Amino acid sequence: MNTLSRSDLKQVRLIEKKISLYELNKLDLYDLVCDLIGLLNALESVPNAWKDEFRSAINILELIHDSIEDGSISRWKGNFKEDMHKSVSKLKNMSTSLIKEYLKRTDPNIIESAIEASSSWIMCPKCNDAWESSSRHAMVICPKCESALHNPRATKQIF
Ligand SMILES: [Zn+2]
Repeated sequence: MNTLSRSDLKQVRLIEKKISLYELNKLDLYDLVCDLIGLLNALESVPNAWKDEFRSAINILELIHDSIEDGSISRWKGNFKEDMHKSVSKLKNMSTSLIKEYLKRTDPNIIESAIEASSSWIMCPKCNDAWESSSRHAMVICPKCESALHNPRATKQIF
């Protein structure tokens, strides 16, 4: 897969956040569906196959929401709560693995590297936030300003 653009990386991180808010009952199903559709439509560097699969999982949630609203949920084939849970897990796994794949490869569009502050801490040169990290991936993301940075401890890739 190609590298994610900076704005897509932020959008996918936001998708992950919206899903965790929903799981913490801080976002209702309707808002989750609307937010995810908005974020999905803004993605520019993500493969279409990924977007289609993501959209179909959102569609199931949208259908369940509408059926709850209009009272037809009692006629839902199968267990709607289970289907809801499955779709949310799928959306979550898809966004998490997109970020994981991104972090594995050096992103040539990024110039800045994180700074090694100690044996277990690294620091962001943009916002000076430091965090504990044991990652050996090519890239890291600053938990405070969400910038993608090269990892000073990345395992050297052998070509
Ligand atoms: Zn930062």
